[in-house]
Amino acid sequence: MNRNGNYNNPGQWSGKPFNFFGDYLFDRYSCRVFKLPINAGLSCPNRDGTTGSKGCIFCSDEGSASPSTSGIKTIQLQMENAINTFSRTDEHTKYIAYFQAFSNTYAPVHILEKLYDEALSSTEVTGLMIGTRPDCISREILKLIQKYKKENFELWIELGIQSMKNESLDFLNRGHSAEKSIESINLISEYDIPVCVHVILGIPGETWDDMMRTADIISSLPVHGIKIHHMHIIKDTELENIYNIKHFNLMTLKQYVSALCDFIERLRPDITIHRLMGDRHEDTLLYPKWSTHKGTVQQAIENEFKNRGTFQGFLYNGEF
Ligand code: SF4
Repeated sequence: MNRNGNYNNPGQWSGKPFNFFGDYLFDRYSCRVFKLPINAGLSCPNRDGTTGSKGCIFCSDEGSASPSTSGIKTIQLQMENAINTFSRTDEHTKYIAYFQAFSNTYAPVHILEKLYDEALSSTEVTGLMIGTRPDCISREILKLIQKYKKENFELWIELGIQSMKNESLDFLNRGHSAEKSIESINLISEYDIPVCVHVILGIPGETWDDMMRTADIISSLPVHGIKIHHMHIIKDTELENIYNIKHFNLMTLKQYVSALCDFIERLRPDITIHRLMGDRHEDTLLYPKWSTHKGTVQQAIENEFKNRGTFQGFLYNGEF
């Protein structure tokens, strides 16, 4: 029960103190569900000169594309290649087509339809996740995406919003405002499509209050999922150049776990948590290095909640 006397059973699928998306999927489909990253070859208005030409400072030339898609042209072959990288699959395993690289609603509707249809042509695919940015959402595109809604099918739009503080969005060179993020989330909600937002904790210049404000605003919006990342430096990004000059502070593991738990305590309990930290391979990750020990970080987060005796939604003030 939270301090308002409400309780929506966070961790209802796993016993964890938060609603973890992986556990929700396993409970819903009674099998392992893996995401198959796709690079559909689309671009981004923050790179092609429409909004900006340099991109977000944390974005590499690959636009967050998975290495499993590298050099593979067709969507089907990218998906097959991703399946071959998973070791723990069996005949029951299901997959979600995950349009991950760049902005996957940034093309005419008829082209997007062709790409999404191609990804969904395999019977083992039980979902469609589309990563994009707030200024690439329109009614026309939402009408198309809404067509894919059906029973026992995971349909999600992943929206990079990163923060609700406009100064932080400027620092990240996002090329959109927090107001635009809110407008897009509300528009997606009109089409009844679940939305998962991406946020970063530990952006230089953000205070603890700023991060908690982001959590409070997200909880007040029709958001269904969240990916939380820590600020980390990836090789060959503008952020690497800035870091080499300014040497701003990056969160230690202890600081991140503390801020993350504070953040999750403010999240509405029904929001599923798709990611608890940034996840980059050692080869491309510069700093901090603690996230390469994923199991240790996850355990530290669960231990922190246990010590506090709290859980997702503990400090959520609204109704649910
Ligand atoms: S919106 Fe996405 S793809 Fe575009 S520059 Fe930013 S992180 Fe990269």
